[in-house]
Amino acid sequence: MQPLSLPPRLLMGPGPINCYPRVLQAMSTQLVGQYDPAMTGYMNETMALYRQVFNTQNQQTFLIDGTSRAGIEAALVSVLEPGDKVLVPVFGRFGHLLTEIAERAGADVHTIEAPWGEVFDPQQIEDAIKQVQPKLLAVVQGDTSTTMLQPLEELGAICRAHDVLFYSDATASIAGNPFETDVWQLDAVTVGLQKCLGGPSGSAPITMSDRFVDVVRQRQHVEAGIRDAHHTDAKGARIRSNYFDLAMIMDYWGDERLNHHTEAATMLFGSRECAVALLTEGQDAVLQRHQNAGQAMLKGIQAMGLKPFGDLQHKMSNVVGVYIPDEVDGEQIRHDLLNIFNIEIGTSFGPLKGKIWRIGTMGYNARQDAVLHTLQSLETVLRRSGCKLSAGAGVDAAMAVYANAAANGKGSL
Ligand SMILES: *Cc1c(COP(=O)(O)O)cnc(C)c1O
Repeated sequence: MQPLSLPPRLLMGPGPINCYPRVLQAMSTQLVGQYDPAMTGYMNETMALYRQVFNTQNQQTFLIDGTSRAGIEAALVSVLEPGDKVLVPVFGRFGHLLTEIAERAGADVHTIEAPWGEVFDPQQIEDAIKQVQPKLLAVVQGDTSTTMLQPLEELGAICRAHDVLFYSDATASIAGNPFETDVWQLDAVTVGLQKCLGGPSGSAPITMSDRFVDVVRQRQHVEAGIRDAHHTDAKGARIRSNYFDLAMIMDYWGDERLNHHTEAATMLFGSRECAVALLTEGQDAVLQRHQNAGQAMLKGIQAMGLKPFGDLQHKMSNVVGVYIPDEVDGEQIRHDLLNIFNIEIGTSFGPLKGKIWRIGTMGYNARQDAVLHTLQSLETVLRRSGCKLSAGAGVDAAMAVYANAAANGKGSL
């Protein structure tokens, strides 16, 4: 058997992306026991760090072990009882995922849909809330399938006015686009590491407001042979998952330290390091770096003569959709970029399949050199496939974005 040997790819798709080297280093740390004070100390520290990442005071802020959808599933299955009404505004693939997970939790799911490449006006969401009167509004912030960023700022107040809980999946957007859990009055948020946080997939940070926690705590709370219904006033139906039972997971991360799963220590070390990387560089600096890289990629693509997808006013900073020119085979171009230049860009799903590529500039790869290499390589592959492009225009336009940012004191590279 040979040792692991992977090609040195530059991952410029919609995620996963290359990890920050410090995250990989942290993940090669030796283990300690599950209840070793060193371990529980790092669990507490990770909770505190993610409160900063989420911009929240929420006590209940920790990690769900699993990929981002584990966080989504934990939030939805723990708060939704069979028959509860949920409203999901769908503007891409991940809205459909929220719908599917809520349905499996037995909820009565109502959706409104925006065309792919657009977002919702808050008024549309408020109108639907009035009509449906849901227990929960579940909405994606940044949907990488369409590259759109749904504004959330006004939705919290709308939810409070109608006594609705407010959940968001901010996996793809957090750290690359502004996110304010408390100011925007969110009740639950889940994310993952493999987008702008610069880690591998496999851990899902979550935060929950007191009002969300109260609803979860009202559910019956039993596990045969280990614990009894210690919340004797339990009213709601038992949570339909053991692994994703947030009431039990809170007791594991809390002072009680009641055994649930064995915390995935290596993922905890990686998650902690993602937060430390973000907070050490500074949230504003990291946002600016994503703004610059995203803008440079967009301007470069346009200068090459390619057309970006969707409503650019509402584009996420960290990913752009690019129409595949008629004269080329989109999959052949991706194949050549990967095999000749070691650069991965993304394909698309559903209605956009075969129509656009998606190019990401996230986390460790939200860097000037990564943007320029990608633009130069894409241009070369396209020219050699018969596209008439003006040589060098993409890289020049991207470099102009960086020069301009530097001149304005915003030169995060
Ligand atoms: C990428 C992405 C995910 C990823 O989910 P995984 O379970 O980690 O694959 C979830 N939600 C959104 C909005 C995403 O863009």
